[in-house]
Amino acid sequence: MSTLKAVRGTRDLLPPETELWNRVEATARRVFARYNFGEIRTPIFEDTQLFARGVGEETDIVSKEMYTWDDRARAQSEKAQSLTLRPENTAGVVRAYIEHKLGETGLLQKLYYIGPQFRRERPQKGRYRQFWQIGAEVIGPPSAGSESPLRDAEVLEMLATLLNELGITGWTLEINSVGSATDRPRYLAALREALAPVKHKMSEDNQRRAETNPLRVLDSKDPQDQEIIEKLPKVADYLDEDSKTHFTAVLAALDACGVSYHVNPRLVRGLDYYTRTAFEFTHSGLGAQNALLGGGRYDGLSEAIGGPKAPGIGFAIGLDRLVLTLQAQQEQEQQQAALADAFIAPLGEAQNPAALELARDLRRSGLHIELGDGSFRLKKSFEIANKLARKIVLFGEDELRSGILTVKDFATGEQTKIPRAELARTLKSHP
Ligand code: AMP
Repeated sequence: MSTLKAVRGTRDLLPPETELWNRVEATARRVFARYNFGEIRTPIFEDTQLFARGVGEETDIVSKEMYTWDDRARAQSEKAQSLTLRPENTAGVVRAYIEHKLGETGLLQKLYYIGPQFRRERPQKGRYRQFWQIGAEVIGPPSAGSESPLRDAEVLEMLATLLNELGITGWTLEINSVGSATDRPRYLAALREALAPVKHKMSEDNQRRAETNPLRVLDSKDPQDQEIIEKLPKVADYLDEDSKTHFTAVLAALDACGVSYHVNPRLVRGLDYYTRTAFEFTHSGLGAQNALLGGGRYDGLSEAIGGPKAPGIGFAIGLDRLVLTLQAQQEQEQQQAALADAFIAPLGEAQNPAALELARDLRRSGLHIELGDGSFRLKKSFEIANKLARKIVLFGEDELRSGILTVKDFATGEQTKIPRAELARTLKSHP
């Protein structure tokens, strides 16, 4: 009998890795509590219509990636209900907001969730069929201030704080405004017009989307279509005054609290419900799947699924990717910690004895030193030094005579001349 394995795109999380997951989740809960968010837990499966109407029929998620099945009908006369494993959690939260009439409190609802989501995507590093998201939503009637740009900025500032508190460095916030419900028809018309003469050159999916939902053409990853996509009109040119003012106010509030960002006019995100602010936090260490998290404003989502007007803004962090980033960072830090402070490279065998003396003095001052050999060619010394040490110290005839040594820092690429008396101090100082 063949052995059974976890299904493609799913995986087990074992100790000690689960410790790290728990730590990340606990940090998120702690940070969210400081911003007065409370936890919501919605069901893992919902009526398929929720995602069709909420996320959008033409999105990749709904058209290709959902795990959907017909439930067994209770009576023969009854039609089987179509159910779907949730591919994301915002639609479920908004459904709960409507179902429990949370809007009637007149207050903003600030809700967060942590849980698995399901998408039938092609598995690769950082992309799974069951993956985890930590997300949060701020939603409420307009009278509660749910449309205010301050809410957008507050959510973004909270995310920056969370990533910093987790110790994640090197992230970039990419932000754009994708326009309001009133900008959208004008922009869609412009896209349709621009696509009409060229769409026959595009992939089959995009030929269809060019008619049904041209916004989705923009997030197509199909390489054959990129050249055309590059030349399509930009949403920024179709924003009305209200949308522009809103976006400017979001950016000003970010500036005020020192959250840095990069405005990316091509960012649209793969879900139909976004209006106005849309954003992503990317991380270069993640490779092809570089989005650590994504989010935005969804002013019309509640109405799209039959609820009252309830603008909102939220995000979902890919927990799997967050953990991958932390693990890679920890590994790098451990490698850094194992490096010698310097590699001494005598440039000829004649310098070997003096290089040994120099290494002895530096070691006596507490430094971690690796000593090369004057018989090595310079290239070889550099190769070894690069693997073992943070810096290389070149020690040739000139250096021996003048007492001035050449030091190269591998992290910065900087090369400096240092008098021998100052060498120990220089080698000790690294970030
Ligand atoms: P989305 O719900 O598409 O806005 O995605 C939000 C975040 O969830 C992304 O930025 C990723 O970090 C994460 N994510 C989305 N799909 C996957 C997946 N298949 N596997 C792992 N993480 C994912």
